[in-house]
Amino acid sequence: MTTNLLDFDLDGMAAFCERLGEKRFRATQLFRWVHQRGASSFDQMSDLAKSLREKLKGCAHVTGLPVISEHVSADGTIKWLFDVGGGNAVETVFIPEDDRGTLCISSQAGCAVGCRFCSTGHQGFSRNLTTGEIIAQLWYAEHALRQRQGHGERVISNVVMMGMGEPLQNYSALVPALRIMLDDHGYGLSRRRVTVSTSGVVPMMDRLAQDCPVALAVSLHASNDALRDSLVPLNRKYPLEELLAACRRYLDHAPRDFITFEYCMLDGVNDQPEHAAQLIALVDPKTAHGVSCKFNLIPFNPFPASGLRRSSVARVSAFAKILSDAGIVTTVRKTRGDDIDAACGQLAGDVKDRTKVSERMAKLRTIELKPIT
Ligand code: SAH
Ligand code: SF4
Repeated sequence: MTTNLLDFDLDGMAAFCERLGEKRFRATQLFRWVHQRGASSFDQMSDLAKSLREKLKGCAHVTGLPVISEHVSADGTIKWLFDVGGGNAVETVFIPEDDRGTLCISSQAGCAVGCRFCSTGHQGFSRNLTTGEIIAQLWYAEHALRQRQGHGERVISNVVMMGMGEPLQNYSALVPALRIMLDDHGYGLSRRRVTVSTSGVVPMMDRLAQDCPVALAVSLHASNDALRDSLVPLNRKYPLEELLAACRRYLDHAPRDFITFEYCMLDGVNDQPEHAAQLIALVDPKTAHGVSCKFNLIPFNPFPASGLRRSSVARVSAFAKILSDAGIVTTVRKTRGDDIDAACGQLAGDVKDRTKVSERMAKLRTIELKPIT
């Protein structure tokens, strides 16, 4: 078996080159070819000695993930479904906005946390993605989009680890992938523009603060432990008090001076005025237990097995107003790509059934690609 170079951060690439008897600057050249130029063939790498290219052909390859389908939404959002083998697929979503391009990346096939409102959670856990499989999503999206736009400029300015899976339960693969995103010889993204979203794996939040402190989003979803226990089962292990303490510790290392709290709005479950009042008391930065934060309210994306409903628009704005009036910066996430189900875990749920994959492949042929604006 030869080595997939997408698995290496720059230090890993340097160690690999060293094993081949090559100097570190060769690793930098290789890394730039792969990530900055999107090269997958060693013959393209014209500034590498022919002898090195031949050596590499014998022991290495650059291989992305097979694309099962691509869906382009009327609003420009693109969702890819990638095959990770064994009947599993993961999804990646590109969200173009006026001033940025955000890629939402998956970290696991399925998820072991099992949140009640999450369709990935309902599928259960299949396996961790490798570093190469995490970075392949960015590698493919960046270079496919760049090629389509035809001007060779960077397309993806922000990455959010908000696709399928709990990134902090796949820590050893996640950190090298983050380093590739941040590396000036890789994607050169700033730490403020790479966000890890977690349901609250407290010990790993502390490790991330030391190893690779990028922006942090924490999926809160509840204003008290009883409610959070029922929505995010991990809360039984790391209850709110511990989670908020971990957020405060993280802020000492974070590239931003706030934590983003995600809050999925569930009709009649966590969307009442008293929940908003509890949240204000819970996070109040003027108290010892509080946290400097922003709230991002996410309208729930319903799926049948959840038995839950999306809060009404009026309820979401009323909730947002209570938080804002208390001085907490609060945004409501725009639903993007609704027509292509570009929400956490929705499409890949169907793909577990392989017959549906071929149906989707058939449909794919009929999809017309729209230019991205
Ligand atoms: N496991 C991590 C990251 C992936 S989920 C986490 O939980 O943070 C990314 C975000 O999507 C989380 O805030 C999650 O709560 C939210 N989410 C999951 N299912 C959803 C749904 N059906 N509707 C709206 N948001 C959802
Ligand atoms: Fe896993 Fe996040 Fe979904 Fe919870 S919301 S089940 S942690 S992917």
